[in-house]
Amino acid sequence: MTARILDGKAISQQIQQELALEVVRLREQTGVTPKLVAVLTGDDPASQVYVRNKERACQRVGMQGVVHRLPAETSQAELLALVGKLNADAAVHGILVQLPLPRGLDATPILDGIDPAKDVDCFHPQNVGLLAQGRPRFLPCTPHGVQQILFRSGLPTAGKRVVIVGRSDIVGKPLALLLAARTSPFGPEYANATVTLAHSRTPELAEVTRGAEIVVAAAGQPELVTGEMLTPGATVIDVGVNRVGDKLVGDVEFASASRVAGAITPVPGGVGPLTIAMLLGNTLTAARLAAGL
Ligand code: NAD
Repeated sequence: MTARILDGKAISQQIQQELALEVVRLREQTGVTPKLVAVLTGDDPASQVYVRNKERACQRVGMQGVVHRLPAETSQAELLALVGKLNADAAVHGILVQLPLPRGLDATPILDGIDPAKDVDCFHPQNVGLLAQGRPRFLPCTPHGVQQILFRSGLPTAGKRVVIVGRSDIVGKPLALLLAARTSPFGPEYANATVTLAHSRTPELAEVTRGAEIVVAAAGQPELVTGEMLTPGATVIDVGVNRVGDKLVGDVEFASASRVAGAITPVPGGVGPLTIAMLLGNTLTAARLAAGL
């Protein structure tokens, strides 16, 4: 079997075209242009690329994207003060603090300091709580991106066994909440999965993944999931982005997995492009909510 390749880049472009129309509609209705502010502290090269990509993506859909670049020596108090200023600025709809922060800075109080109504990464405990209760304000970007790929590829999750490898607060855990929920923005067919959350202490991982119709790899371990660990025809979503030498590889061994899977996302060009599109979507949501819509 040769798996169908799920083209995240094309899906992301489609979503961004839709968002661009929504941005025009919002401006016509309210005069408001959604504005996302990213705070980049220090000079981590990968973070610089991520932030630049987010800024450009904003411009592509007609939103304002602004980056505050702070030196690595910035203090906790200075960073908190900037977040406070952005919270108070009514022209700012979305705030994101790019992680990781330089050594010496504690991310938790900074992220908790973001106004939950501007928390477009969906990291604030209030937004995570709303998500857990099935009444989300924002959807977490990467998990929502995974759901978008499944939806736009016609791969429903209801009644399916889904194994998510990785239990991080950013990917695995919120994705488990989304897929096990009673419904989703795409209807109940794209929720209602029977979800297993596997992690570094899960024994016999291959046994677990072989029991799944959908496997999502989000462990940050290059090529952890191989073809042998899959049931024939499974859908494989690879969230991992790992730099190995000068190559980017996922958490799935693509060559072996794509011979067994029914559908698979590539790395790059799979989940990554969706994460940015979902961030833009949350910024639009924040601007709409701020306008009372
Ligand atoms: P993390 O390091 O916070 O969490 C990794 C999780 O994987 C942990 O829960 C751990 O228990 C589990 N794990 C580690 N080794 C394992 C093993 N051998 N077997 C089973 N489980 C194992 O990582 P994260 O932030 O969730 O990111 C995961 C991957 O996804 C990384 O490669 C990251 O770069 C990538 N990522 C991509 C996007 C995107 O937009 N494409 C967004 C976020 C993260």
